[in-house]
Amino acid sequence: MKNKSKKLTVLFLLVIIIATTICAQATIKTVYITNSGTKFHTENCGLISRAKNVTPIEESEALKKGYKPCSRCKP
Ligand SMILES: [Zn+2]
Repeated sequence: MKNKSKKLTVLFLLVIIIATTICAQATIKTVYITNSGTKFHTENCGLISRAKNVTPIEESEALKKGYKPCSRCKP
């Protein structure tokens, strides 16, 4: 019995570690803004490939600053 509960604890910890890793990857997402624009874009968006002064920024940071997701590339 004691051995079984220890196995469950290890399994439980593993699940937590995996879930945390997935969450961390989901929250850190880099998007791109331009000096003049009010939208943020993905790296491959056609709208920023022609723009100058493109700045990489974390998505949560862009949202905090009032940027909106681009309707064309849907970051
Ligand atoms: Zn875009």
